[in-house]
Amino acid sequence: MSRVILGKDIEQWMKDFPHLQQLMKTEPITWINDRKSNHEPIHLTIEEAEQRLRRFAPFLASVFPDTQANQGLIESPIQRVVLAEQEIEKQFGKNPGNLWLKCDHQLPISGSIKARGGIYEVLAHAEKLAFQHGMLRESDDYSILADESFRSFFSSHKIAVGSTGNLGLSIGVMGAALGFQVTVHMSADAKQWKKDLLRTRGVEVIEYTSDYSKAVEEGRKQAEADPTTHFVDDENSTTLFVGYATAAKRLAGQLAEQGIEVSAERPLHVYLPCGVGGGPGGVTYGLKQEFGEHVQCFFVEPTHSPCMVLGMMTGYHDRISVQDFGIDNQTIADGAAYLRYHDGRGFNAL
Ligand SMILES: *Cc1c(COP(=O)(O)O)cnc(C)c1O
Repeated sequence: MSRVILGKDIEQWMKDFPHLQQLMKTEPITWINDRKSNHEPIHLTIEEAEQRLRRFAPFLASVFPDTQANQGLIESPIQRVVLAEQEIEKQFGKNPGNLWLKCDHQLPISGSIKARGGIYEVLAHAEKLAFQHGMLRESDDYSILADESFRSFFSSHKIAVGSTGNLGLSIGVMGAALGFQVTVHMSADAKQWKKDLLRTRGVEVIEYTSDYSKAVEEGRKQAEADPTTHFVDDENSTTLFVGYATAAKRLAGQLAEQGIEVSAERPLHVYLPCGVGGGPGGVTYGLKQEFGEHVQCFFVEPTHSPCMVLGMMTGYHDRISVQDFGIDNQTIADGAAYLRYHDGRGFNAL
C-alpha cells in the first residue's frame, strides 16, 4: 500500500500509531488519552443552564405531558443492568463491578441524549428573543410561552440544524412546539420515521444522499446567508454543550439516592456512546466538575466510524477522516451509555 495521508505514507502512520492497524480492520481497540490535562480551558456556567431549564419547566409540563412526572424537567432514570454484568463476566472472564444504565433512550420529548443539549439550545434561543422584545421576564411563569402571541412571534424566526436524526428530531420538535420555522438538514443515515414525524409537525426536512458532514455544511451555508436563521452547530455550540453538561449534577443526585458513593476508593467509570457532536464531551465536562478525578469517562464509538479516537489519538482532529484510512463510516449503531461503579471488590478495565 502506498497511500499518502497528510504527506505521510500509510506505513509511517501505522508505525507512529500502532492502534491504526486494528482500527483500519474495524476491530475494537481501547485507547487511553495520555495527553489529558487537568486544566479547564473553558468555563461554562452549568448552574445558569440548570436555572434556565427550571424556568422553562412549567411550559414543558404544559406542552409535553411526558415531562409532567418530573414537573417539566427532562430527565431519565438509572437502572442496574445485572444481565449485562453477567454477560460481560461470561465473555471476558472478569467481574465488571456494578453496572448501571443511564436510560437516556427514555428521555421525554425526543428519546435520546439530544433532548438535553438540543432542546436546551432551542429554549435558550427562544428566551433570548423573547427578552430582547420585552415579551418575557425571568420572573414570569413560562407557561405563557404556550400562548398564541408567542407562537406568532416565534413564527417569524427560523432555526436550522444538520443532523443524522436525533438532533434534528429534538430541535425540530421543540422548535415547532414554540412556533419557530425549523429546517432540518438530514444525512442519508437518518431514519425515515424521524423525517416523517418532523414533517407532521410542520418542520422542513431536507434530505442528503451523503453523510452527516455534508448535511451540516449545507445547513450552515444556508443559515449564514440568512441573518434571521439561528443555526444549531453540533460541533461548536457551547450552548448545546452546557445543556448536555446539566446531566451530571442530576446523575450525581440519582447515584446518591441509590446510596452509591463516588470517591478515590470507589471511582465511577462512565461509558459514553460518541459520534461527532458535543454530547459525550458536555456530559464529561459536567461529570468532571461533579466528581473531579474520581470519575473516568470513556467515549465509545462504532468500529466503522471511529472518528473521535482517530482525531484525538493522532492529534489531527478534524483534519483527517476515517475514510482517509479506508474505513467505511457505515453504521447504524445508536447509543447506550453505561456507568460502571466500583462496588468495593474491585473491577478491571474491559
Ligand atoms: C447524539 C447521540 C450520541 C452522542 O453523539 P455526539 O454526536 O457525539 O454528540 C450518542 N447516542 C445517541 C443515541 C445520540 O443520538
